[in-house]
Amino acid sequence: MTNCNLSMRSVSRHKPTQLVADQDALMRIFIRPESDAARLTLLKYMEQILFGLHEFLTRHVGVTQAKISLDSLKELSERFTSSTIGKHPEKMLADVITDLIEDIAPHAVNVASPYFVGHMTSALPFFMIHLKTIVAALNQNVIKLETSKVVSVIEKQVLAKIHRLIFQENEAFYQEHVQNPQTSLGCFIEDGTLANITALWVARNSLLTVRDRFEGIEKEGLSAAYKAHGIERLVVLVSRLGHYSLKKAGGVLGIGNQNVIAVEVDAKNRIDMNCLRQKIAELHDSSEKTRIMAIVGIAGTTETGSVDPLDQLAAICAEYRIHFHVDAAWGGPTLMSEKYRHLLAGIEQADSVTIDGHKQFYMPMTCGMVYFKDPRILDAIEYHAGYVNRPGSVDLGRKSLSGSREASSLILDSTLKIMGTQGYALLIEHGIEIARQFAAEIQGRPLFEMITQPELNILTYRLFPPANISLGGFRLEQGTPEESFNTSHQLNAITRKIQQLQREAGKSFVSRTTLRVHQYPGQDTVVFRCVIMNPMTTIGVLREILDEQEEIYSQIITGQVDL
Ligand SMILES: *Cc1c(COP(=O)(O)O)cnc(C)c1O
Repeated sequence: MTNCNLSMRSVSRHKPTQLVADQDALMRIFIRPESDAARLTLLKYMEQILFGLHEFLTRHVGVTQAKISLDSLKELSERFTSSTIGKHPEKMLADVITDLIEDIAPHAVNVASPYFVGHMTSALPFFMIHLKTIVAALNQNVIKLETSKVVSVIEKQVLAKIHRLIFQENEAFYQEHVQNPQTSLGCFIEDGTLANITALWVARNSLLTVRDRFEGIEKEGLSAAYKAHGIERLVVLVSRLGHYSLKKAGGVLGIGNQNVIAVEVDAKNRIDMNCLRQKIAELHDSSEKTRIMAIVGIAGTTETGSVDPLDQLAAICAEYRIHFHVDAAWGGPTLMSEKYRHLLAGIEQADSVTIDGHKQFYMPMTCGMVYFKDPRILDAIEYHAGYVNRPGSVDLGRKSLSGSREASSLILDSTLKIMGTQGYALLIEHGIEIARQFAAEIQGRPLFEMITQPELNILTYRLFPPANISLGGFRLEQGTPEESFNTSHQLNAITRKIQQLQREAGKSFVSRTTLRVHQYPGQDTVVFRCVIMNPMTTIGVLREILDEQEEIYSQIITGQVDL
C-alpha cells in the first residue's frame, strides 16, 4: 500500500506482480510523500537501516558470517553473473533494503567487530550514519560556490582547524587565511592516495616553474620542463616502507615510478638517516643531472606503524631546499593526544601533510585531506573553467585534483564538535596503550615472537615454536645458515596457514604481510599484523585471538590440519 509511494508502481491485476516504470511512478519518487502513512513508511526504512544493520553488526562477531574461503567466494560470485539491466523495475525500495540487510550484509566483512584487528578500517561512532545521511540529503557539490555556498565556507574553516593542529601558526595567521579566497590551507580529496598525489603534484610544479620563455611544467609538459631547467631526472625519496600510492604518483606525474626511490630503514623501521644522506650525495654526484623533487617522511607506516624522524628529515630538506612531505594518512590524528603528539614532532616543519579522515578520524569511507604550510603553494595547480571556477572566486574546485565532490567537511566539522580533541585523544591513547599491552602479552607467550614493536597502534609478530619441534617432516633448527633458511621457510608457512585458518573460521581477523626486518637480514619474514583502533578491542579480546592461534597451531602439529 503506502510503500508504492517510494517505488515504481506495482500493477497487480494478476499474480505475479508486475512493476512498471511510468510517469506517475517517476513523479512519486521525486516528490516527498506528504501523507502520514507514507511518512511512517519512510521512517520505517530508516529504522530498518539503523537497527537492522546495527543488529547484523552485533550479531555476527567475526569477519563474516560466511567463510571467505575460496569456495564460498566462488559460490557468491556464481550468484552475481547476470549482466543485463531489466527493462521493468524488479523490486520496490522496501524489498531492496531488506535484501541488502538480510542477504548482502551477512556476506560483507564486519569491520566493526572488536575481533577485526587486521586493517585500518574499523567501527564508526554510530552518529556517522546520521551525518553521512545529511550530506547525501543536502547533496552539495563543493566544486564551486554556486552548488555549495556555506559548505565551502565551513570547509575553509575546518581546513584551518586541522592546519592549526599540524602547523600551530599564530592566531593572526589563521585570521588572515581562514576565509581568504586567494589562499588555501589545504584541500579535501577522496582518499590518502590522491592526497599524496596532490602533494607531489604541487611539489613538482613548484620546482619546475616558469623561467625565461618556459611557461611552466603544467602547460608545457615534462620534457620541455627538464630541458628548460637543465635536468634529466626527477626523484622522490622515501623509506622502503612508503605507501604504494607514492609510486602511483611517480607514474601519474610522469617522473616514472622507478624514480620514487626506496631508502633503507633502521632497526626501528624508520628511514635510515645515514642511508638517506648517502643517497642524496650519490644523486648529486651522478652523471645524470638529477633533482630531488621531494623527501617523504611517514608518520605511521601502513605495515608497522613506525614514524620517521620528522625533525631530522625537516632539517635535511631545509639544508638542500627540498619539498618535505609528511604522509600522516594514518598517524595524523595522534596530534590530538597531548600525551602522544610528541611522537610526530617535526611535522610542523613539513611543506605538505596527508591525513585520512576515514582512518583515525573515524569517518565513513572516504575522506582524504592534504595540508600545506604555505597558503599560496596550491596556486601551482590552479585551473579555471569559464562556466564554473572563475579566477578570484572562492570555488574550491579551482585548486584540486578532484572535480565534483561531496561535503565531507560537514562530517568532519560536526564530528570535531561532538568529540573534541579529548574524545579523539581517548581513542588514540586506547589504541597505543592496548597495542603495548598486547606486545607484552605476545612476548610472554613462548609460541610467539614480536617482530615490530608498536610505536603507534600497529604491531607485527609471528609464530615461533620452541626449537626442535617436528613439523611436517621438518625440524626447526637454527644452526647452520641453511637450517636457518629452512626454518624461516617453515615459520613463514605456519604463520601464513594460521592466519588463513583463523580468517576462515570467521571469528577474528588479523592481517598478514611480509617484511624484511633487521633481526633476520636477507629473509622475507611473514608476520601477523594487528591494527588496534576499535575502542571495544580490549586486551581480553586480543588474548582470545592469541588463544585461537595457539589452538590452530596445535592442530597443525598434531596433524589434524595440513600445513
Ligand atoms: C592508508 C594510507 C595511504 C593511502 O590512503 P588511501 O586512503 O587508502 O588511499 C597512504 N599512506 C599511508 C601511510 C597510509 O596508511
